[in-house]
Amino acid sequence: MESRQLSRLLEMQQKILESIASGQSRRQILDDLCLMIEALVPEALTSVMLLNPESGSLNVLAGPTFPAEAIPYFNGMTPSPVMGSCGNAALSGEPVYVTDVCSDPRWNGLREAANKLGIGACWSIPFFSEKQETLGTFAITLKNRGAPTPFHCRILEIASSIAGITIRNRQREERLLQWNTVFRDASEGMVITNAQGAIIDVNQSFTNITGYAKDEVLGKNPNILNSGCQDTAYYQHMWDSLQTSGRWQGEIWNRRKQGDIYPEWLSISRIDNEEGKPFNYVAVFSDISRIKESERKLYHLAHHDPLTGLPNRLLMTTRLEHAVQQSKRTPIHLALMFIDLDHFKNVNDSYGHALGDQLLVNVARRLSSHLRSGDTIARIGGDEFVVLLEQLEQPNQAAALAQSCIDTLARPFAIAGQEIFITPSIGIALFPEDGNDADTLLKHADIAMYRSKEEGRRQYSFYTKKLSDKVRERLKCEMLLRRALQHQEFELHYQPQVCANNCKIVGAEALLRWNHPEQGQILPDKFIPVLEETGLIQEVGAWVLQTACRQMQEWEGMGLPKIRLAVNLSAKQVSPECINQRLQKILAESGFSPDRLELEITEHSIMQGVDSGNQPLSSLRELGVSLAIDDFGSGHSSLMRLKQLPVHCLKIERALVKDIPDDLDNQAICRAVVALGHSLGVRIVAEGVESEAQADFLRSIGCDELQGYLYGHPIAADKFRQMLVGHH
Ligand code: C2E
Ligand code: MG
Ligand code: MG
Repeated sequence: MESRQLSRLLEMQQKILESIASGQSRRQILDDLCLMIEALVPEALTSVMLLNPESGSLNVLAGPTFPAEAIPYFNGMTPSPVMGSCGNAALSGEPVYVTDVCSDPRWNGLREAANKLGIGACWSIPFFSEKQETLGTFAITLKNRGAPTPFHCRILEIASSIAGITIRNRQREERLLQWNTVFRDASEGMVITNAQGAIIDVNQSFTNITGYAKDEVLGKNPNILNSGCQDTAYYQHMWDSLQTSGRWQGEIWNRRKQGDIYPEWLSISRIDNEEGKPFNYVAVFSDISRIKESERKLYHLAHHDPLTGLPNRLLMTTRLEHAVQQSKRTPIHLALMFIDLDHFKNVNDSYGHALGDQLLVNVARRLSSHLRSGDTIARIGGDEFVVLLEQLEQPNQAAALAQSCIDTLARPFAIAGQEIFITPSIGIALFPEDGNDADTLLKHADIAMYRSKEEGRRQYSFYTKKLSDKVRERLKCEMLLRRALQHQEFELHYQPQVCANNCKIVGAEALLRWNHPEQGQILPDKFIPVLEETGLIQEVGAWVLQTACRQMQEWEGMGLPKIRLAVNLSAKQVSPECINQRLQKILAESGFSPDRLELEITEHSIMQGVDSGNQPLSSLRELGVSLAIDDFGSGHSSLMRLKQLPVHCLKIERALVKDIPDDLDNQAICRAVVALGHSLGVRIVAEGVESEAQADFLRSIGCDELQGYLYGHPIAADKFRQMLVGHH
């Protein structure tokens, strides 16, 4: 190659590279390239063809001196062994030098064009993409036949290489442009950060979603969006995944600039530099609060009854299964209540379905407002409701709730100017007694409901019939006790307590009696537990204290001897409120002297720690009221405990006295109790003394006072007064 040719070649190369660098258009660069080559090779026609990757055909991209009528012959041709030099070059990826177009079969497919244009020779070289796929060809066409010289070959190589650079450059630009558009117009928010996590760009959707403008966040860390909803472990996991796999995606709650939080679907990719070190992070996210909301709505639709808005069978079953699962771990009692409206069909038949629907809505509302906050009510069929009661302490509670559901539905419903009456039949199944899983419990509650129907509707039944009867009786008793309080069916009897040495009456124990209108007198052991369970003990207990204190005052006013009054106190009554307020008030109102009042609390309830702080009992001391421990010897007294309490008296329990003097063990215990009591400085009373032999023994071991049938049964106030009078 001559040095002149070489320097012209270099000059051309330089010019073209400069125009590429200066951002000239692709067309302009390629046209310039063609013209420069033509200036170097006299009589040459140059052209650049581009391969369309979609259609697979070649098209003339540049050929500034090519006759216009020639172009259509070559445009759109598919590379093949007969489609000329370029067709072959594009096909094989190799340079193709056709030295005699006329006779060369490789031009067979372009014969007409060759003849018309009078082509003698055509040399073509392909150029490639970065992935070595053919992008197009550069060709020199000559009127004369002939082979290329080494200079020509060099020129062709350089020209095709420049054409390749130009096209590849352009493709990159196009791609960048596309990405720019995607970045700018995407509905997803996008954030790009540097390796240190500082934001270097965000798009418009970022601003739309987060409320932050671009210049507010540039340089900041994306954690300005943290809502605090995810813990550090969550972010650590995200970070780990980015480090190991270069990607992370998931759902995350972020906080907008305005302060509200929203869910987004976020995907983050790490972009590495050439050394494989993190260079950028790109995050793309979309606000999925709408999706979440519609998911929520869908979930609601699928899990609720459209008429009443209550959970449906599906949701109820899920909750029930969950509750059962939970209960297996912790002993929470569950009850399932199946409620069916009696003769609901009649309502539909006589008032129409619209009104029937209204009634169901109202029933649902009334029932819901009646339940405790943790309970779930569902409508599982036309007129069928199911209530799941959790954290029950006793079956009684379920029964009470069922009864109150019946009561609340008993009030008439006013709908569309009509007064409608409806009653429910209720069945109750208990977990785990009546079933270990959701299906069985539902089935058994249903069966129990049918029993309520059979037995006359408007009532509840337990699946276990025995329980039904027991609970019903209990509740009936409760109801009767409430009535007893209102109707003054309670009465106090008094039993004397005598001095062991001279048998003089020194005190009286007030004992509660219930004069049942049908069953006659009922003893306290039968009903005190019910009073305690229902809380009625507070009212009844206050009545007992009040009545006994008044009675004593009255007798004193009549000139009868001043004796001590013993009143039994239930463990449930030992509260600051009862002692400090109620007792004080009663004492003040009756005028009865506190130092003559003795409260009896069983050893059992004291040791059970009812009064763990001893606070209410300690305040008895300040009131001047004394304390007796009833049924002493039955429980497991802690001596420490005894010492802490303001005790004045120990009452030896009846059971110990019963077998005296025959039982030597009991004798020993009684002796020990007396010794213990006296060493603590308290009085000893023996209960249940029925025989002189018992009395003699108890007296001999030092008992201070005796109480029992031997000295008098508990008797009505009037009779006791007479006894006191006679005693004098
Ligand atoms: P308690 O305080 O140990 O009362 C003594 C019980 O023994 C009384 O039974 C009395 O009738 C009975 N009794 C008395 N002497 C003899 C006897 O010689 N032989 C036999 N076999 N029994 C005798 P009651 O009246 O049925 O009272 C039972 C329990 O009910 C009482 O035991 C007391 O714990 C409780 N109670 C009675 N009245 C009240 C009250 O007003 N409030 C509270 N919270 N409990 C009460
Ligand atoms: Mg007592
Ligand atoms: Mg007793």
